[in-house]
Amino acid sequence: MLPMPELPEAETMVRQIRKQLQGAMLGQVRHLRSDVVRGGAGGLTERLPGHRVLEVLRRGKRVVLDLDKNMRLVFGLGMTGHVSVVPAEAEVAGHTHLRVVLEGSRQELRFRDSRRFGGIWLLDGADDSAGFARLGADPLEMGLRTFRRLLDRPRQIKALLLDQALIAGLGNIYCDEALSRAGIYPPARADQLHPDRVKRLHRAIKQVLEAAIAAEGSTINSYLTSRNERGSFQKRLRVYGRHGADCRQCGTTIERAQTAGRSTHFCPKCQSL
Ligand SMILES: [Zn+2]
Repeated sequence: MLPMPELPEAETMVRQIRKQLQGAMLGQVRHLRSDVVRGGAGGLTERLPGHRVLEVLRRGKRVVLDLDKNMRLVFGLGMTGHVSVVPAEAEVAGHTHLRVVLEGSRQELRFRDSRRFGGIWLLDGADDSAGFARLGADPLEMGLRTFRRLLDRPRQIKALLLDQALIAGLGNIYCDEALSRAGIYPPARADQLHPDRVKRLHRAIKQVLEAAIAAEGSTINSYLTSRNERGSFQKRLRVYGRHGADCRQCGTTIERAQTAGRSTHFCPKCQSL
């Protein structure tokens, strides 16, 4: 499976488009590929114009525009989803599925997604068809006590960290990186980790996510920021994608194995059971 945008990549897009979108009035929908609309209120082309953007947020790995009159426009990034605000006359990239005019600014909100595992939701009021009620804790905001409670399960730690219903926003890259920084063997049982390890992991998750946000994400395959620039955190990865290379801490060869149905990268010495 190709790496997909995770929390740092979604957060980077949110931060880059927030300034241009906050307070903006959505105008005409110039283009919509209707099969990328995933439920929620239908008739997006008719219903979107005339709504003002109040706030731009991230929920898990998704980009959310809070609109006035109790509406929300949500972008799921899937594998290749990309949200941007560009001059209206800018060349339209391939696989652009939504173009919305921003009134009075000569700019457009655009969404593209070549693999189409992402999608768009236009939500009305309490409509939860985007599944936000099922999302777990945000790892940047989650306290240590909450984290300990979530880990008190007889499951492999890697599988648990990937479970969006428990912790929302981590994917394969940042799971492997956080486990590496905390010195934890990825198939280890979550409820059997020493309390000190849990504390280290809690800190490692925040540190790796914050460092990745500062680096505007990891461009390993196709991810680009909203400004169409590459992220740079891929240069600082310790284990993800480095199987066969030397561990930066101890020189042991990084291994790759299957854990929780996903490729897992780890140092067998620094992360032994
Ligand atoms: Zn090592």
